[in-house]
Amino acid sequence: MRYPSLIRVFVTVQLLAGHATAAVYSNAATSVCCSLLAAALPNATFPRDMSNSSIYRIESTHFWSSTEWLDPTCVFLPTSTADVETGVAIFYHHDCPFSIRGGGHSAIRGAANIDDGILMSMRQIRDVTISEDRSSVVVGAGLTFGEIYSAVDREDLSIVGGRFGTVGTGLLLGAGFSYFNNRYGLAVDNVKRQVVVLANGTAVNASSMENTELHWALKGGGNNFGVVTHFDLFTIESTGVFGGRITYPESSLAALDEATYNYHTKVAVEDIDVHVLPTYVYDGVTNTTFGATPVVANANVTELPPSLSEWQQIEHSNYTLRNTRYGTLADELVAGFPNGLVQSHYTFTIYANKQFFSECLSLWRQFCQSFSYLDGFNGLHTVMPITQRAISEGIRRGGNPLGLERSVGTNQTLSVFYLGITFNKRADIEQVFPAWEIFIRTLQALAKERELLFPYIMLTYSDHNQQVLQSYGEQNVQRLQRVQRVYDPTLVFQRLVTGGQKLPL
Ligand SMILES: Cc1cc2nc3c(=O)[nH]c(=O)nc-3n(C[C@H](O)[C@H](O)[C@H](O)COP(=O)(O)OP(=O)(O)OC[C@H]3O[C@@H](n4cnc5c(N)ncnc54)[C@H](O)[C@@H]3O)c2cc1C
Repeated sequence: MRYPSLIRVFVTVQLLAGHATAAVYSNAATSVCCSLLAAALPNATFPRDMSNSSIYRIESTHFWSSTEWLDPTCVFLPTSTADVETGVAIFYHHDCPFSIRGGGHSAIRGAANIDDGILMSMRQIRDVTISEDRSSVVVGAGLTFGEIYSAVDREDLSIVGGRFGTVGTGLLLGAGFSYFNNRYGLAVDNVKRQVVVLANGTAVNASSMENTELHWALKGGGNNFGVVTHFDLFTIESTGVFGGRITYPESSLAALDEATYNYHTKVAVEDIDVHVLPTYVYDGVTNTTFGATPVVANANVTELPPSLSEWQQIEHSNYTLRNTRYGTLADELVAGFPNGLVQSHYTFTIYANKQFFSECLSLWRQFCQSFSYLDGFNGLHTVMPITQRAISEGIRRGGNPLGLERSVGTNQTLSVFYLGITFNKRADIEQVFPAWEIFIRTLQALAKERELLFPYIMLTYSDHNQQVLQSYGEQNVQRLQRVQRVYDPTLVFQRLVTGGQKLPL
């Protein structure tokens, strides 16, 4: 929403090195940055007042959640790392607030868009280069996972990325559930190198060989350290996959609950080449809850392995599993997740527990039923395992800041809950969000009371009022802060990039 005054001034007070410092930004500074951008890169700059610019309109509204529809002063659409260097140098020297947008799938208002600042959309950085020895692939940060899978499918390769076609590479800065987690760990653990434009507008490589601490920090540190223009991803040889979605009626919920627990504690541990995303959908129109679960065997086969037969045997109403490629699968799975509705989701993590799985499902259904009258109300609930093997794969590949190793020694699977709601009108937000937040806090309190709560909040499924980076543990926060002091001493990515999950100061 725009403020009525032409010059909107906002004041951010932050504690810098123990001193209270006031940083003042104004529309005037932002307009200067947009003008400088337009002079330096005229084909990449789209101001708000350019009435014929469909690019401005598309970029500022093309988000999964309408909570992200904002009103930037200009849109910046770089096509290369050099363009990003130019842009960030301008923002740095003139103190201009900006946002960084990947695939636009965060539901947090302002995480990847901005009012009265510069929206930098990575969408036009789209190159894909497979290494000569096929062991890795460099992908532009503007690609979606559907596009990346399709590109590497053609070369009989795959990567550890998101499961839904339209999701962008912001996932690779958060955590990353993928088809391959059970064997290779999270997506962040399978990034070989990031190309990062730092606060002062210079690009560096971050890997296990160069800028190693920055490389570690970016495996979960979000947009706190720089603008990543390219990700170099380890590849997996792959000629095909067997997978799709199984849809189950409400009468199957108890059996699904049982299968979900088995998957977390047994199947995902013992058969590391399969993947299931146990998913429940609440449909407000029919006031029913049903299962809609992606089920995948990571092999070029024509039937499910015995480890997944339980999912096939549960009474179901639709079944799309077949031999296919990851690009096709990712595009199929994302159907039903359109852009532009109001979305909110929260996450928290527990040690896998059957009773809690059942209670959470039942309480979430009750919550959804209480809002069934609302225009377009739907709910989505998934629960996803991080096995001890997945955690040790992360450690083996150099570690990450997420703090999952705090569970090592328990020999238990961590279960990450995703609880989401969707409805049509932004006008209904005030009515739903406060109750929704209280409901989630109640679930977390219940998990804590039962001594099941593990203190990790996954960045990519979090809401704005969850303390994500703090959840990584004090030591990791301090290490992240040290990285920040080295690579961003004037805190550009705190002061100017204010959206999304920020590192505590
Ligand atoms: C339909 C759907 C399916 C999903 N499926 C999965 C899944 O299978 N696995 C999973 O783990 N998660 C999944 N997610 C969650 C997803 O990982 C997060 O929403 C993630 O943030 C999406 O990244 P994005 O680039 O699309 O989003 P954006 O909203 O564009 O970006 C998210 C955050 O990352 C920052 N960012 C983005 N790109 C850059 C960059 N190049 N440099 C610096 N900062 C950057 C942004 O500033 C923003 O704060 C899904 C979400 C949706 C809506």
